[in-house]
Amino acid sequence: MFDQADIDALRTRDVSPGRLLIGGAWKDARGGETLDSISPIDGRILTTIADATEADVDDAVAAARAAFADRRWSGQAPAARKKILLRWADLIEANALDLTVLGVRDNGTEIAMAAKAEVGSAVNTIRWYAEAIDKIYGEIAPTADAALGLIHREPVGVIGAIVPWNFPLMIGTWKLAPTLAAGNSVVLKPAETASLTLLRISELALEAGLPEGVLNVVTGRGAGCGQALSMSMDVDALVFTGSGATGRRLLEASAKSNLKRVYLELGGKSPNIVFDDVGDIGEAAKVSAAGIFRNSGQVCVAGSRLLVQRGVADDFVAALSEAAARMRVGDPLDLATQSGAVNSEPQLTQILDFVAGAEREGARVTLGGSRIMQDTGGYYMAPTVIADVAPEHRLFRDEVFGPVLAVTTFEGEDEAVRLANATDYGLAAGVWTQNLGRAHRMIRAVQAGVVHVNTYGGPDITVPLGGVKQSGNGHDKSLHAFDKYVDLKTAWIKL
Ligand code: ADP
Repeated sequence: MFDQADIDALRTRDVSPGRLLIGGAWKDARGGETLDSISPIDGRILTTIADATEADVDDAVAAARAAFADRRWSGQAPAARKKILLRWADLIEANALDLTVLGVRDNGTEIAMAAKAEVGSAVNTIRWYAEAIDKIYGEIAPTADAALGLIHREPVGVIGAIVPWNFPLMIGTWKLAPTLAAGNSVVLKPAETASLTLLRISELALEAGLPEGVLNVVTGRGAGCGQALSMSMDVDALVFTGSGATGRRLLEASAKSNLKRVYLELGGKSPNIVFDDVGDIGEAAKVSAAGIFRNSGQVCVAGSRLLVQRGVADDFVAALSEAAARMRVGDPLDLATQSGAVNSEPQLTQILDFVAGAEREGARVTLGGSRIMQDTGGYYMAPTVIADVAPEHRLFRDEVFGPVLAVTTFEGEDEAVRLANATDYGLAAGVWTQNLGRAHRMIRAVQAGVVHVNTYGGPDITVPLGGVKQSGNGHDKSLHAFDKYVDLKTAWIKL
């Protein structure tokens, strides 16, 4: 972990404007358009980023295609690609402090979490896929003697990766590392409010020896360059993490353009289900509070619905509220902070609208509910607990992406399952029980890509993350991520 004095020394350092990376060269947007990068810590302008135009996106896609076509990357032996990727991870690690502080100033995540979940995770992810790629074999099919069926694995081509602002490096490298390891070329589109660290690690990728044109970065508005990327006729697959609304647009864009494959990770409204036989209420409450309030609730797998069995509801909610009230919310660059800033002013406004809407629908705010530390100019929100949330309420169904926990009580296991599954989402869930049979029944019954038992959050790179229902399709992390970035080709040979 870093030293507070070293962090403080970087607090106000000037940040150079972000530019586009196209074909190995740094460029301004055509026409020179830029967007302000506003720090959520104090609402001040940190720097600017280029606002790429459609023509810039076309250039980036053309550069990626050219790099793929001449096999300057995919033609290298997997062991050679591995070496470059490992060098890249080393360079990121060597720049960990600078990168972490830059990222926190850009997106507001508390630095204790960002150190692990951003730079730490990025380094680990890149190393993991680098190490994996020279251990993946093709297959020989069990055919009759007269023929030989070989199954080759090939890179897909040009991948468009559109990523969000909550964990730009973690989610960005979940896409970039397996994509690049497999030999594809990429056009990366970071979120407008969190582009700076992804630009910086792309610079480090060049330094590590990644050939020019293999990784291109276009920054700017989603509805501008993001949409242009989704409509490109020369992108083979789009991988995306973000909102359902944007996910739908990407599917439409695919249908209207070249039928590019689209893989979506779209967040959730994940139930954290606590049974009467929870065991240690204090510990479960503490972990559950962290499971919704860290990074100001801006976590796609956040346990944002507490479903708690009637017999333990009062005690559990009291313990959780106490843990939440004790959390240190504030300056994200302070190592002691447990929940930093909300990413942007529009995001904060949206969260507060959710709270007001819940009250109008008859739910009760029992903790927090308002903006805090407004005098800093930054965007901070108190951990918020809302009781009496009913299945028909918007707060029960829709993702807030903020520090807001919706509490609903239930009587028995059947009702718990019914409530857990009563949303369009299916990303994550938690189950707290000392009954082993019940734990396994719940794992089967709850519709989610990941079910945590007696814990919440934290699964590492070795296991897949993906949603069911309207939480998306495809998986990040683990060897299964390669399914998106590798095509199977059959060779059928007469013997
Ligand atoms: P959030 O609500 O979490 O910001 P978004 O889906 O709006 O989620 O943003 C996630 C990413 O999608 C960002 O990089 C954003 O710029 C991009 N994006 C937003 N709108 C579009 C769009 N119409 N086409 C392509 N990308 C988009």
